Amino acid sequence: MSVIEAKTPSLPAFVEAALPVPLRRVFTYGIPPEMRGSIKLGARLTLPFGRRNLTGYAVGLHAELPPDVDIDASKIRDIIEVADDEPLITPEILRLTQWTADYYASFWGEMLKASLPAGINTDKVRPKRRKAVRLVWSPGFSRPVAKESPEGGTQNKPLTEQQEKIVDLLTANGGEMLFTDVLEQIDVGASPLNTLAKRGFVEIYVQDVMRDPLAGASFPERDDFTLTGEQRSALDQITTAIDDEGKFKAFLLHGVTGSGKTEVYIRAMQHALDAGRSAMMLVPEIALTPVFSRRLRAVFGSEVAILHSNLSSGERFDEWRRIRRGDARIAIGTRSAVFAPLENIGLVIVDEEHDPSYRQHESPFYNARDVAVMRAHLAGAVVVLGSATPAMESFYNSRTGKYTYLHLPDRIGGRGLAPAELIDMREVFKRFGKDVPLSPELLSAIAETHSKGEQVIILLNRRGFSQFVLCRTCGETLKCKNCDITLTFHRGNNKLICHYCNYREQSPKICPHCQSEYLYFVGEGTENIADQLAKKFPAMRVARVDRDSMAHKGEMEEVLLKFAAGGLDMLVGTQMIAKGHDFPNVTLVGVISVDIGLGLPDLRSAERTFQLITQVAGRSGRGTQAGKVLIQTYYPEHYALRHAKEQDYEGFYDEEIKFRERLGYPPFFVLASILIKHRDHSYASKNANILRRALDEANAARHARVLGPAPASLSRLKNEYRLQIIVKAVSRKSLRETLDIALADAEHHGCDIRSIYVEIDPVNLM
Ligand code: ADP
Ligand code: ZN
Ligand code: ZN
Repeated sequence: MSVIEAKTPSLPAFVEAALPVPLRRVFTYGIPPEMRGSIKLGARLTLPFGRRNLTGYAVGLHAELPPDVDIDASKIRDIIEVADDEPLITPEILRLTQWTADYYASFWGEMLKASLPAGINTDKVRPKRRKAVRLVWSPGFSRPVAKESPEGGTQNKPLTEQQEKIVDLLTANGGEMLFTDVLEQIDVGASPLNTLAKRGFVEIYVQDVMRDPLAGASFPERDDFTLTGEQRSALDQITTAIDDEGKFKAFLLHGVTGSGKTEVYIRAMQHALDAGRSAMMLVPEIALTPVFSRRLRAVFGSEVAILHSNLSSGERFDEWRRIRRGDARIAIGTRSAVFAPLENIGLVIVDEEHDPSYRQHESPFYNARDVAVMRAHLAGAVVVLGSATPAMESFYNSRTGKYTYLHLPDRIGGRGLAPAELIDMREVFKRFGKDVPLSPELLSAIAETHSKGEQVIILLNRRGFSQFVLCRTCGETLKCKNCDITLTFHRGNNKLICHYCNYREQSPKICPHCQSEYLYFVGEGTENIADQLAKKFPAMRVARVDRDSMAHKGEMEEVLLKFAAGGLDMLVGTQMIAKGHDFPNVTLVGVISVDIGLGLPDLRSAERTFQLITQVAGRSGRGTQAGKVLIQTYYPEHYALRHAKEQDYEGFYDEEIKFRERLGYPPFFVLASILIKHRDHSYASKNANILRRALDEANAARHARVLGPAPASLSRLKNEYRLQIIVKAVSRKSLRETLDIALADAEHHGCDIRSIYVEIDPVNLM
């Protein structure tokens, strides 16, 4: 792979380009003489590739053909265009994406593309320009005086009344305004303005405007409290490390929910800024950002840029540009914000570092938490991973000393964590002789909470109305035609929907297999539970929060802000409501069927269940009133539930780590999950077998364990069959070596590499 050269002795004649294609290599192109002076590393290039043109990225510049390229110079094609005079990609991001692509056995060009705001390579994302007007007199904007007219003579015709008004208005606004604002405020047509421009009194021009995702929002008051001793100690260690310039250091900030971690992050970022450096903070989901972005904006003003997927592409582009220009030195955002082009970064924070949404689930795979650690490493910066329920790997790293452990064991203000109770749903089943989704215990707690004027959160991990549709006559379930997945009933639009490929069909009245009328809807989802609760508690204002109800930009934000302001009494939702929020009036959290995962044989199902319950439990009793947590479960003896009830992280860790060690899972082993996908089952199977043989050969010394191919847990998705091979190795190095050799060898033996998807450090094996 290429070496990035910082300087070239003479003008470059060849460029190495990373292309967004699934190939683990870079491509060499010639640079036409007239473009040689303007091409810089990190610039986007338009390149011929096969019969298409692609946007690639300049990753190496050479005066002569690099010696490791063994093609005839005359066969090398020329680039078509250099898209950027100033490269969008900084040298630091070039290095980081190269490392990331390599670490995840992924593709550099795809990583580079993923590092830029979505849509930037299309014409859809453009800077927004508006017409503006300014007085041409300065300084002091004295009254316009007569000017020379082009025909000679002077135009000393006095200003009309309307023109006078315009000049007054502009003067009052610092001499410069948006064209439309002038028209609106003067309530005249455009003609007096145009006349003023013609007479040379004002200038009309086009201005670049930045779209502000928080335009019009109100910001909370900044609290100026004294840090607790524990916050102080954590902050001091972080700031001391920031001051030790150029040195990488990693912290794990383990603090229970409400222990004041966010306050530590904010002050640490302030410290980095004061030291003339920039700071980045990653958050897991958009759900976290509305309240939190406002809190940051209140502290840092326009120094903060926000990057998350719920922004319009234009807003995202503008926020990104503010960072690239150095106007915003704090970037906060979700996953891909880890590639924000901040310069001179001093601090990287990953909040809720255990969260699965840091994982990109499609190619290019990466985990933003791990990339963040590497980013800090490359930049000689400090990284802080924060969580109430650290990922097993992170806590393990703090035990082995790789990360420095910072602990905030108590909630602010001495408020205890809300006590939790398990409700054994097997008991409830016995009492009623059937499954009931809402136990009497939970219902009466809701009524009691409401009677005190306090708020309720109900967590449920299933979207839709019912999980699946079963025919009671023939026993068949209704499945997606593209996937081996049962369809979920959504009553809102009377449709059956596949949650994996989004296939939809009208909900049938009779069974398509046997024409029976006895269709049975099983497994309540959020839509159903929210309905039932609204019926049972007509006096309560209930809102549902999940991906279906929050499909439109701004909806989520609106509901959360309304709930925070007391305009709603109960939220029913998926994990979107579990994390990060600070709603002081919530005193009851109910958890329904989040433990279904425990029935699945997955490496992280216990960890996920524990995290989710602990996170949502942390929403209860954050204000002045004591809170409580009720957890409905079918597995009350499971260690994930026992420890979640006690909110005992270390107890859980100690049991889970033994399980990981026994089964050869991370952090003791490094895993790769390889999916072989194809529409044709036998083709997928053929490729999988070639790959398996190549893996065995590459692994002759048996440093790794290879399992499969076997049908993946989701054995058919989006019309493709999916086979899975799992590779477990004792070290990252031996894993990568085995994979690299095997992939090259398999391709050589006719394996279609395009059907192979390698995922290093998979978050699940399903
Ligand atoms: P976490 O991020 O750990 O969940 P936060 O930083 O959001 O916790 O703090 C929880 C609440 O306590 C917030 O309302 C915050 O404003 C408040 N808070 C944080 N630190 C202090 C402090 N030292 N004194 C008083 N209130 C604090
Ligand atoms: Zn049937
Ligand atoms: Zn489907």
